[in-house]
Order: sequence, then C-alpha cells, then structure tokens
Amino acid sequence: LSQGADAERVAGALAGLGLWTRRLVGAHGVALAIREHSAAVDISRIESLPGVDQVFRAEPRCERLAAQAGRPVEISGAVFGGGDPVLLAGPCSAESKAQVREAAAVVAARGARFLRGGAYKPRTSPYAFRGHGRQALTWLRDAADAEGLGVVTEVLSEGDVQAVAEVADLVQIGSRNMQNYALLAAVGRTGRPALLKRGAGATTDAWLLAGEHILAAGAEAVIFCERGIRSFDSRTRNLLDLGAVALLKHVHRQPVVVDPSHAVGRRDLIQPLSCAAIAAGADGLLLEVHPRPCEAMSDGPQALPPHMWEDLVDALGLGLVKV
Ligand code: PEP
Ligand code: MN
Repeated sequence: LSQGADAERVAGALAGLGLWTRRLVGAHGVALAIREHSAAVDISRIESLPGVDQVFRAEPRCERLAAQAGRPVEISGAVFGGGDPVLLAGPCSAESKAQVREAAAVVAARGARFLRGGAYKPRTSPYAFRGHGRQALTWLRDAADAEGLGVVTEVLSEGDVQAVAEVADLVQIGSRNMQNYALLAAVGRTGRPALLKRGAGATTDAWLLAGEHILAAGAEAVIFCERGIRSFDSRTRNLLDLGAVALLKHVHRQPVVVDPSHAVGRRDLIQPLSCAAIAAGADGLLLEVHPRPCEAMSDGPQALPPHMWEDLVDALGLGLVKV
C-alpha cells in the first residue's frame, strides 16, 4: 500500500470486488495478501484503487529455474533446446555387456546422442529383475564410449549417487522418486545435470519445484521428462500429458523431453506419440529400444526393435542418420 494509506479502507474496497485479504505488516509498510479462492479480478482494477501502490503476483520462489529458463542446455555435446530434438535411447534394463553393446550400436547408427539403460531398476514386485547394479554401469559407460554417446541412467538410492554420477553424463531420477527430496539434493550436490521424470501423480508445480530442489543443491542443469501420468484407462499404460510439455516449454521455458515408451506402454503407438511430443515443444525423446524385445527382462512390450527405431527416426525427419 502507499505510505500512510488506510489499510481498512483498501481491504473494504477489495472486499467489494470479491477479494478477501490478510494484512501483512513489515518494516517498510503494510501489504494486503489476497487469499486463494477470492474472485478473479483484472489486476488493473486493483491498481486503480486509492491507497494501492503496487500489485504483484506471489509465485513460489524458483530462482534457479528462472536462471535456467529459455537457455539451451548442452550436455556432452548435445544441446537441449537448441533446435533439433535430442534422442536418448536404449534398453529399459542393462541386461548384459553384449546386449548393451548391441543396443548402443543400433541407437548410435540412427543419431541418438545418449544411451539409456537401467542398472538400478525400480520394480513394482520385489521378485522382479532389479538390475545388475555397478557392473551394469560399467557396461553402459564402455558401450557409450565405443559409440561416442552420453549415458543417462537412473539412480534409486542416496547410497548409489556417487557411483552413478561418476558414470552418467545425465543422472536420471525416476518417476517414483520425484518427491524423494533427500535423493534430489544428493544428486544436486554432485553438480551433474539431472533428468527429472514427472511423478505419475504429480502436478506440474510440484514437478517444477522438485527441479528447483536439484538446482538449489548444486546441479548444473535439470532436464524435465514427461513420462505419462496415472489415468482411469488401462489400455494405455499412462496418460501422456502433452499439455504439461507445452506448459513447461512455452510458459516456463524449461528444457523438457518426453518418454513415450513408459507413457503408452506399447510399441505400436510410440511413433505417433513421438511426433506429437515434438509438435508440443519437446526438446528430446527418451525411448526404449532393445535388440530383441521378446527377450527383454523388463518392459518388453514397449521396447522398439531395431527396425521400428529406424523407422521412427526416419519418420521424425531429423536428418540424424550417421554417415
Ligand atoms: C525408466 O525410464 O527406466 C523408468 C523406470 O521410468 P519411470 O521412472 O518413468 O517409470
Ligand atoms: Mn522401462
């Protein structure tokens, strides 16, 4: 409020517009905070009330995200937000040295920039295959180096953060851990860039703030990854929220990629969703590709065999084919 303004009067005038307020008294004067669930009123009507000095919208503090907004992010030579979408591809799980090698060669030949693959797998059942751990990290690094790729791989627990950060160019935080704030901070403290998957039931605000946690702890950059949210329909595994992708890209101006594989859960629909993701503004695609999906130890139904991966890249028309 302006110096010497009658706060009661201004609050009364605001109440007349359907706005309910709380008085905040600080060293530099008095402000009125408009409560949630007040009426939606054009800001110029508030500005023109006598006694009102300045009107601003209170947003959660997101200064690290603000600093990253609108800037292309370069990670091991690949640029997110720099024009062409970045392809990050490989198997769901790193199953053996040979499988990882084979997958790396397949994805590199069509222009992928990152090899994906899980060494630590979050599984719904405790009896399912849960990854080969540290030795799988070595398989990923060696195969990626042989093909000139970066590595993106998930870290599940704080105790493995150092080992994963030593190997990964991009440290993946999975959907289930999006709000594991201790893990977010531990990854942030390594300074490595992080790929932050959206929780299946997370709002875009909670997702963005989780990214702020990682950046505030010291990460060089955070790439957001939409991988589908929970819906009522089980025909597709999850619901790919392209509205959220457009929101992050065009409103918040954050680097964002899409994982159509975990979103839709079936290989026949990966191509149309990939095209849609790019149209919505995605800076890249995280795709599950397996040399022989029928042998996959996890997520076989959504894995692209080599010929479908090749068709997909051709359909995207990115001119990424390595010569
Ligand atoms: C993955 O990408 O390997 C994975 C487990 O995905 P999500 O966290 O999205 O389920
Ligand atoms: Mn998977």
